[in-house]
Amino acid sequence: MDNFDVIVVGGGPAGMMAAGRAAECGRRVLLLEKNRKVGEKLNLTGGGRCNITNAEFDTRAFLSFFGDARKFLFSPFSRFAVQETFAFFEGRGLPLVVEERKRAFPRSQQAADVTRTLVDYMEEFGVERRMGVEVKRLVVEEDRISGVETDRGFLAAESVVLATGGASYRETGSTGDGLEWLRGLGHTVHAATPDIVPLRVQEQWVKDLSGLAIEPMKITFAARNGETLARQGKLLFTHFGISGPLILNSAHEVKKLLRHGPVAAAIDLFPGEEPNLVDRRVLEVFDENRNRTLRNAAKPLVPAGMSRALAEHLPAELLDKKVNVVTQEERKILVRLLKGLPLTITGTMGYDWAVVCDGGIDMAEVDTRSMRSRRYANLYIVGDLLHISRPSGGYSLQLCWTSGWVAGENA
Ligand SMILES: Cc1cc2nc3c(=O)[nH]c(=O)nc-3n(C[C@H](O)[C@H](O)[C@H](O)COP(=O)(O)OP(=O)(O)OC[C@H]3O[C@@H](n4cnc5c(N)ncnc54)[C@H](O)[C@@H]3O)c2cc1C
Repeated sequence: MDNFDVIVVGGGPAGMMAAGRAAECGRRVLLLEKNRKVGEKLNLTGGGRCNITNAEFDTRAFLSFFGDARKFLFSPFSRFAVQETFAFFEGRGLPLVVEERKRAFPRSQQAADVTRTLVDYMEEFGVERRMGVEVKRLVVEEDRISGVETDRGFLAAESVVLATGGASYRETGSTGDGLEWLRGLGHTVHAATPDIVPLRVQEQWVKDLSGLAIEPMKITFAARNGETLARQGKLLFTHFGISGPLILNSAHEVKKLLRHGPVAAAIDLFPGEEPNLVDRRVLEVFDENRNRTLRNAAKPLVPAGMSRALAEHLPAELLDKKVNVVTQEERKILVRLLKGLPLTITGTMGYDWAVVCDGGIDMAEVDTRSMRSRRYANLYIVGDLLHISRPSGGYSLQLCWTSGWVAGENA
């Protein structure tokens, strides 16, 4: 019978880091992955370029993006934080570059190079990898995990690192198995719901603008129960609705508003300018285009392509009017639109578009000094299995590097 010091279930970023580190610490390690290759999701990250971390070297500032969960993270980040991520990858021949919003990428711009670096790390310290092996369940004997039951039989281990990921992009292998097992073991597991995810919009004009990004703008979301939320920054129109970092990072809040039904949103194209100032701008533009129709004269007022969106909301008679005969009242209609172009949010794009899911094991049930379960002394839990909501921008993978490293070292 096979017998290992450590079995790592799942060959994603967190699992590979944990396996490599445990082996580096002298343990006999087996990594089990149900896919034929490790790092299927990792290879898709950052649009194939892998936003490997966020180059915020002040851990307190870095963790300020993790909401309430940050209190659990100071301890593991004191062992392995952003600085260590840079040192780890660069020291292994993968130079990193930092782009806007401190997002760090491999200089090669290839996510597959990140996977390769981790595979090399595991090979260097003799991690045994078995691909195409699906773990069916964890086997428990007297409050300890004695090993794992796979589709090829039982494998015993002194410790097990669970790194099966969450439940987004299921085709990459992250089918939520670990979440089910943890629940079965009596752990509190919060339901996985798509978190950092684009929003679906009802109106066709939004979809027609697919590819257009507008900045600055302010978007306000209003739920049917009267709750509202406002965000300012850059918005990206897509063929299904709206996206971009601002929207992705607002989705968690918008999801709460969506519980009451479709959400009425409005885009303010002149954030920070009162309506009377906007009206003055409109007058200036009209002055320069006296003999043109409103349909044409309004074009300079909005980002290229968006005049069609305005046209959707204005009566045809007004659009065809020469601007020198447009009345003050009619101008008010236009100003109202520039300050609040309406659209309807009907939902999020769901699991398949989610960058991360917020579900996972309740953090109070993990001893984050070691990433060990507080119920099973030889079970370690890492990566997307942790119930930690965070923004896009390299924060998720940093969580994998940190939790994987700490679990590997303690397993
Ligand atoms: C499109 C996309 C882009 C992203 N871009 C970024 C980015 O640029 N930066 C960033 O920080 N984060 C990004 N993320 C998030 C990041 O990919 C995840 O946080 C990360 O992959 C989680 O790693 P993990 O090791 O916990 O799990 P996963 O990467 O999900 O890996 C889990 C592994 O476990 C295996 N497995 C599952 N069940 C079993 C089983 N029963 N038996 C054996 N093996 C099993 C799976 O096949 C899989 O290989 C992105 C996510 C997506 C979907």
